[in-house]
Amino acid sequence: MKVLVAGAGIGGLTAALRLHAEGIDTLVIDSVTELLPLGVGINLLPHATAELCELGLGDALADLAIPTAELVHLDRFGNEIWREPRGLAAGFDHPQYSVHRGELQSLLAATVRARLGSEAIRTGMRFVSARQYPDRVCSTVHDRALDRAVEITTDVVIGADGLHSAVRAGLYPDEGAPHWNGIRMWRGITMSQPFLTGASMVMAGSNHTAKLVAYPISAAARGEGRALINWVAEVRMPNHTEQAANWHRIGRLDDVLPHYRGWRFDGIDVEALLAGSERILEYPMVDRDPVGRWVFDRIALLGDAAHPMYPIGSNGGSQAILDAGVLAAELARADDPRDGLTAYEAARLETANAVVLANRDIPADRVLRLVEERAPQGFDRIADVLTEDELRMIAGGYRQTSAARVSAAPDRPGRFDPVTAPR
Ligand SMILES: Cc1cc2nc3c(=O)[nH]c(=O)nc-3n(C[C@H](O)[C@H](O)[C@H](O)COP(=O)(O)OP(=O)(O)OC[C@H]3O[C@@H](n4cnc5c(N)ncnc54)[C@H](O)[C@@H]3O)c2cc1C
Repeated sequence: MKVLVAGAGIGGLTAALRLHAEGIDTLVIDSVTELLPLGVGINLLPHATAELCELGLGDALADLAIPTAELVHLDRFGNEIWREPRGLAAGFDHPQYSVHRGELQSLLAATVRARLGSEAIRTGMRFVSARQYPDRVCSTVHDRALDRAVEITTDVVIGADGLHSAVRAGLYPDEGAPHWNGIRMWRGITMSQPFLTGASMVMAGSNHTAKLVAYPISAAARGEGRALINWVAEVRMPNHTEQAANWHRIGRLDDVLPHYRGWRFDGIDVEALLAGSERILEYPMVDRDPVGRWVFDRIALLGDAAHPMYPIGSNGGSQAILDAGVLAAELARADDPRDGLTAYEAARLETANAVVLANRDIPADRVLRLVEERAPQGFDRIADVLTEDELRMIAGGYRQTSAARVSAAPDRPGRFDPVTAPR
């Protein structure tokens, strides 16, 4: 069997490694001429880390990333609302990792080249369209170097080409642009001092108005007693003219800073954090409506191409990695690749679509919003503002959805099962 993976992002590269591990011949193409370590921070939930560890990347990840130990919700004055352990500290078998997205992509790409061969990833190759036949798929790909279309014939095509997927557009030609929810996001990376445990993720404020998410992402910086802090500033501005979602768009400090004037928490001077980033990226919070099919005979969607979701809750990269594991396992055990793809869809579609919808609700944000409404000037004791049940109910509801049972290939034992895993 020969598989073409369109897109050398987190999902596509993981799929290539998994397919290779199952003995399936795989070629990955990407439209960019060079895979540069782009992006800022990204989080891998324990079940996604487990997948990468199964691929033998555990040590390399530990060298790069921060094993996130806790999530702390604060109000905009820095008063603590809720704190919960994460990853190993929460009893899981594998860490939750906070890592630079570009470094993770580079690690995956280097591993693909080492294991599948130096020609296994071909850049400057943009997937355009595909024609299906009973026994094969012929993909039309634009080769930048030749400046012309070339044809690649395989048994299967995996669309792992992200939010603006050309593979998906071929299957859903009338879908149009992603939906924006009125929140603008600025993102940056700032070298600073460690805060709290040195492996804490902080969420402060609320998506009702302005929210800040910050966490360290570099094991190397931690080794030197410093913290490379990834931050995301999310500001609701529904009257702003929506900008197209583009991961490369440069943002302006002057646009974001006014929303965070005077924000200062224990160990974090928010204004200095925002101002300290060499480069600021801006991105609208967008997703797409869940669709009922990812698989059309020999073509399947994976990762953001299948279920683009708001980049909150640490699920964007994690769900793509889970897709990759299930897809490869199902393809490997099916006699006909079409059956394997159908089994992959049956195993993953409902779970991932539920996360898309849960993210729209921004469940953890309900806690933060309630606090803002009930204690607009801050508080001394959270017990005066929220009941224990309110806190638990909201945090627990999200955990259940985002970490819903992911074990989709029943013959792959030892899978992380959040339903029974300790908190
Ligand atoms: C440049 C970039 C920066 C990002 N930065 C962040 C970040 O800082 N934080 C975060 O949470 N998420 C970020 N993301 C998104 C995040 O990687 C995904 O949400 C998640 O990891 C799921 O991965 P994916 O493999 O499905 O998609 P992606 O990681 O988006 O990968 C898709 C890949 O497909 C390629 N591609 C697109 N169109 C075509 C085509 N027609 N033919 C061939 N290849 C194509 C793209 O070049 C890209 O390499 C970024 C994505 C990109 C592309």
